[in-house]
Amino acid sequence: MKTLAEKTRAREPRRDWAQVNPCVCCAPLGAALAFKGIEGGMSLLHGSQGCATYIRRYLISHFREPVDIASSSFSEDTVVFGGAANLAQAIRSIRKTYNPAVLGIATTCLAETIGEDLVMTLAALRDELQGGAIIVPVSTPAYRDGHATGFAAAAEAAMNILAKPDGSASPVGILPGMVSPEDLRYCKDIAAAFGQPVTVFPDYSATLDGGPWDRYHALPPGGTPRREVENLASARMLFDWTAPAEGICGRLIERFGTPAIHSAPPIGIAATDEFLDRLGAVWGIPMPEALHNERARLLDAYVDGHKYLSGLRVAVCCDEPLVTGLVRFCAEIGLAPVLVATARGVPGFDAKIRASIAEAGAVDDLQVLSDADFDEIDGHLEAAKVDLCIGTSKLYKSARKAGAPLVRVGFPIHDRFGAARILHIGYRGGLQLYDRIVNAVIEKKQESSNEQWSYL
Ligand code: SF4
Repeated sequence: MKTLAEKTRAREPRRDWAQVNPCVCCAPLGAALAFKGIEGGMSLLHGSQGCATYIRRYLISHFREPVDIASSSFSEDTVVFGGAANLAQAIRSIRKTYNPAVLGIATTCLAETIGEDLVMTLAALRDELQGGAIIVPVSTPAYRDGHATGFAAAAEAAMNILAKPDGSASPVGILPGMVSPEDLRYCKDIAAAFGQPVTVFPDYSATLDGGPWDRYHALPPGGTPRREVENLASARMLFDWTAPAEGICGRLIERFGTPAIHSAPPIGIAATDEFLDRLGAVWGIPMPEALHNERARLLDAYVDGHKYLSGLRVAVCCDEPLVTGLVRFCAEIGLAPVLVATARGVPGFDAKIRASIAEAGAVDDLQVLSDADFDEIDGHLEAAKVDLCIGTSKLYKSARKAGAPLVRVGFPIHDRFGAARILHIGYRGGLQLYDRIVNAVIEKKQESSNEQWSYL
């Protein structure tokens, strides 16, 4: 009998010349999200106005919060003569209206295509734009990078500009990447359980999932305080779960010798054990009882729920490195990952995914797709005969065609409510995911049965 890999290889050859329904959003979207995680941070997109509108709309429908993003609003003239004058005007207007502490400027496709050099343009405008917000320029061509890479580039650029050791503080930093506001809050809860301070950067848990206001704020309260970002340079340890294969701490390690560990976000028991062991070792504190109790509840859920999940075939499609953390979690809870896909080409992705599930036993017909689009995923899903899909809302149509329930994770989630409060990481996130996965399987079984079971 042919393995899934052989069957799919025999299908129509991959179209390398085009993406159909890409499973990636644009790079400046990720950058705008990262800048929302800095206290007093504001985003300006250098390019055409439609990009800011699309990105605002997209972020709002995931987070259900107002999102202001400025634009240097290119016109036909700007495309011919360059965007410096528009950029200067935009910066002046933003200062007047928002008075941000940090202004992140990300390029869009148009600015990149006409060859705008943001750093050089800003240097030429230095005298004209003296004072005011610290400016963080970042190049984010969306035809090269996706939202996760744009997020990482912006977070890295902000950290490299702001961080400066003064020897007065040695915090622990968690750089969680593009996770949910609930995940960001949980990072702080973990540190609080140890009784230790932590810097979470970028932290948009309040700016994109805060409460109603008594009075209007031009910029929403919240975000990582600038002082804390500065102190990341002298961190005792940085835990980096951000997108690129090597993380975003390279310059900090090079300039200041800041120690850092890069990994996928820890999800479930094994990965969270590793993270908390390292965290506890940095502080010299054993795991607190509250976290032991969370671990015990998760283990108990595994015992209660394994009969529903054991051996089910699962497809996992979302951003790297969340996808790596999720695949390891799936293997831990007895699911068989048979299709794993992520959007942008990630070097060594196949080997990384296989290594992440090696301890749970290899899956013979595992198919790993990097640089995938939904057209390609559809074809593979059909052959993979999956019982369950885990991914973003963008995977819904493919999951529906395959007749498999979809457990929504990551970004974007546009067809359900409460995306900001989905917890993925740690024991607590593992438990929330586990409950959702088991219930999705039970619901599917219940709805496709002729019997009207109400007791399963
Ligand atoms: S033109 Fe480029 S930067 Fe603008 S919205 Fe489209 S993909 Fe994003």
